[in-house]
Amino acid sequence: MKKNLSLYISLLCFLLLSSCSPSSSKSQSESFSDCQKGFMGISGNKIYPSSDGYYFFAGHYLMFADRHLKETTFVCNKPECLHAEEAPENRINCNAFFLEPRSLICEDNNLYILGRNLQIKEYDAYSIYKTDIDGNNRSNIYTAKEQMDAFLLHQGNIYTSELNFTDDNGKLLDNPIVSIHKISLANTKKEDVIFQDDTLNEGRINRLNCYNHYCYFDLIDFSETMTTESKKINLDTLEISNSFPFDTASTILGKNCIFCEESIENDLTNHTWKSRYWQLDVNGENPVELTKEFFSVIEKNAIMLTADDKYVYFHDIDYGANAVAKEERRFYVYTYDGNLVCEIPFGEIQNYIDYYAGDNRYLFIYEKVPVENDDSKIIYRYLDKTKFGKDARFEVLFEGYQSQYYGTTIY
Ligand SMILES: [Zn+2]
Repeated sequence: MKKNLSLYISLLCFLLLSSCSPSSSKSQSESFSDCQKGFMGISGNKIYPSSDGYYFFAGHYLMFADRHLKETTFVCNKPECLHAEEAPENRINCNAFFLEPRSLICEDNNLYILGRNLQIKEYDAYSIYKTDIDGNNRSNIYTAKEQMDAFLLHQGNIYTSELNFTDDNGKLLDNPIVSIHKISLANTKKEDVIFQDDTLNEGRINRLNCYNHYCYFDLIDFSETMTTESKKINLDTLEISNSFPFDTASTILGKNCIFCEESIENDLTNHTWKSRYWQLDVNGENPVELTKEFFSVIEKNAIMLTADDKYVYFHDIDYGANAVAKEERRFYVYTYDGNLVCEIPFGEIQNYIDYYAGDNRYLFIYEKVPVENDDSKIIYRYLDKTKFGKDARFEVLFEGYQSQYYGTTIY
């Protein structure tokens, strides 16, 4: 009898262990991965890496580029589907189609895509969809109350930036409510509002990014005054504070540090400005001013664009009264200790609207260039970082017309 009982107990233990192990290993891998800070855009992530290559949006379509950026394809394996060539009423049947997609993440062999919700027709609703890596098995995992601009996944949680124009009774608010929500990926019903502001006329959140124990973002007022406040949320305590000891700034996340631009003068009529640059630790403390002795292009007021774990990127002023002549404009790549390793001509770049410091291999620039007939071109360019110090140049990953990739859709 005793023997049978111990056998029963060990069998029970075995069953319990085996039934638990798959889900616990899954939640472990999900809860420990950080967002790829090099792929967080100004407003949403238009390109994101996977283990095999890079996913990106071309208009309404989700595309894939292989790891060497040689070939781009629609993320749709439906036989006979013509993707962007389909008639307006058939477009929504393509697996690669998302209406006005804004942001994407790839994690654990799943894609997460933020786009318009086609089922809700009374107002513009936004949802996050989850699909397999090949675009199959699409499911809606989260729908915002109204607008959702961007999202990211960090350590098992979804963070969204949202905008509400009405109250719970549908009454129009004086100022929109700008907010950041934290949603558990394992249970998307578990939602907390971790930041909220209703004091700005045209408030918006830009550059939502997570790194280690902080969520960083810029709170911008797009009304005439055009102010920016860089803030951070401590993800352990949910305490909100300013990222910098300055009034106006923008945040660039480096490796274990933050770079920031402090605006000293800003002439909104002539579009001229003066800035000071600082380097702080990840807690936003111990500021050290970065002078021209350190990064030489600071002398000519070049703009600090971004940083990855190895390099800091600047470029010449490309708009306003102090803009450098187009053919002389350059990008400058520095190591963290101030060595200029590369100067890269702007080349064909005319109107970039977002950029991604990227990974160890590539930096990306997303461009929209007006062309004739009210059309424009969507262009993704990249820099191969292995060519720094040699002949690094911007090269084209993808080019397509707005009219084709954002074409009329009936749904
Ligand atoms: Zn298709």
